[in-house]
Parts: sequence; structure tokens; C-alpha cells
Amino acid sequence: MRIILLGAPGAGKGTQAQFLMGKYGIPQISTGDMLRAAIKAGTELGLKAKQVMDEGKLVSDDIIIGLVKERIAMDDCKDGFLLDGFPRTIPQADAMKEAGVKVDHCIEFDVADDVIVERMGGRRVHPASGRVYHVVYNPPKVEGKDDATGEDLIVREDDKEETVRKRLAIYHEQTKPLVNYYSAEADAGNCEYHKLDGNRPVDVVSAELEERLS
Ligand code: ADP
Ligand code: ADP
Ligand code: ADP
Repeated sequence: MRIILLGAPGAGKGTQAQFLMGKYGIPQISTGDMLRAAIKAGTELGLKAKQVMDEGKLVSDDIIIGLVKERIAMDDCKDGFLLDGFPRTIPQADAMKEAGVKVDHCIEFDVADDVIVERMGGRRVHPASGRVYHVVYNPPKVEGKDDATGEDLIVREDDKEETVRKRLAIYHEQTKPLVNYYSAEADAGNCEYHKLDGNRPVDVVSAELEERLS
């Protein structure tokens, strides 16, 4: 199963990706996680990406498209994958289409901007695994520690309110057009499009996802 998760920063893509990975055994391809891994490793890409990400802007299409193509070509993606945070622009979607990458489901998480800002303030992440928590809505078993490894959780550099608002504006401007893009793909019979109300609790959203994909 090849799935695209579409939605604003904080809409719950990463959280539901963890659920779907467990359920379908397909890998999560999170371009945000890949970029953060590159920053941590101090690669040339990481050095280039860091400032752009901290400012809440998008990394260039060329870089991202190259990264994703390389990742999708890997062996573990042959039976499917979950794209989380990609595509984020029309050129990125076009590049996938031109590369012949087919998509079965595009899932849109619709969440109000005010809810997003509140969620990002409480987001805590385990960088090594991509697992996501929230101090109130999805707390870890032990405060500040990842459930599976016990390692420290961190606050992302770009989750401060001012940067979140900037990222939301960029989402509406550059990523929201993909809603029409993939709706049109669905109308043409190329994929299925699912719009979900992402304002509801995590397990309610997961249950609906499961139903839509079955
Ligand atoms: P969130 O989970 O909050 O939506 P991500 O982890 O997906 O955020 O992305 C964090 C940052 O990484 C983005 O603000 C952007 O700078 C960069 N990034 C991630 N994916 C892409 C992409 N597909 N195109 C351009 N930039 C990206
Ligand atoms: P290794 O093969 O050394 O164990 P990993 O399996 O951690 O390395 O990562 C393999 C590649 O996938 C790396 O390029 C890494 O940047 C990337 N990667 C790590 N986490 C994610 C993720 N959540 N989504 C997509 N790519 C990831
Ligand atoms: P995205 O990957 O779209 O940026 P995340 O999955 O990282 O979003 O979720 C952002 C924050 O909101 C995290 O702290 C997460 O625990 C929390 N969260 C995710 N889904 C929900 C939900 N349905 N209800 C409440 N909080 C949620």
C-alpha cells in the first residue's frame, strides 16, 4: 500500500504514520525526520537545511526530490510506503508522477489552525525513531522519556509559536494546493482520496483511518 499523508504541520501525520506502520508493516518516509537526521550527522545537506528549517521555510524542491527518490528505491519500499511530509509543493508532486511513483491513497488531515498551535506547544519527539508525544494529549509513560527506549524526548527547534505560525502560512500557500491536486488524481481514477477530521482524539482518527483503508 502506497500512502500519502497530507496536512498542516501538527495535523497528526507522524502520529498516524506510527499507527499505520504498525498495522501494515510499511515504512514511514518522513522527509522532516530525514532532514533532522542529516543535521544531526553534520552532512553537507544538513548544514544547508538547518537554517531554512529553523526559520520555518521549505527546503528546496531539488534537494527533497532527490532524497525521496533515493529512499523509495530502497528494498523495504517495494511493497509500499507512507509518505509523511512529502510532497509539500506542486513541483514535488509532479516529480513523483513523472518518476512513475504510483499512489494508492492520499489522506488529508483537516485541523483548525488554533488547534495546531496548541498541539505544537506540547509536542515532544524521540528523534531516533520519529515517535511523537504530546504533554497532555499523548503523554509518554515516564515524563520526558521515550516509551520504548527510555531515551530523552526533545522539543523541536521549529516548534516555537512564532515559527509555527510562519509554517502554517507556508502550508496554506504552498502545500494546500495539493488538496486539489490529489482530489483531481482521485477523480481521474489514479488514487483514492480521504479527507478526515483531524481535530478529534488520536484513537478516533486512527479508527476512521483503519476503516477507510480496509
Ligand atoms: P511537521 O511534522 O511539523 O509537518 P516536518 O518534520 O515534516 O514538520 O518538516 C520540518 C521542516 O522540514 C519543514 O518546515 C521544512 O523546512 C522541512 N521539510 C520537510 N519536508 C519537506 C518537503 N517535502 N519539502 C520542503 N521542506 C521540507
Ligand atoms: P541504518 O541503515 O544505518 O540503520 P537508518 O535505518 O536509521 O540507518 O536510516 C536509513 C536512512 O533512512 C538514513 O538515510 C536516514 O536518514 C533515513 N531515515 C531515518 N529515519 C527516517 C524516517 N523516519 N523516515 C525516513 N527516512 C528516515
Ligand atoms: P505532524 O506530523 O502532522 O506534524 P504530529 O503527529 O507530530 O503532527 O502531531 C503534532 C502534535 O500533536 C504531537 O504532539 C502529537 O502528539 C499531537 N497530536 C497528534 N494527533 C493528535 C490528536 N488527534 N489529538 C491531539 N493531539 C494530537
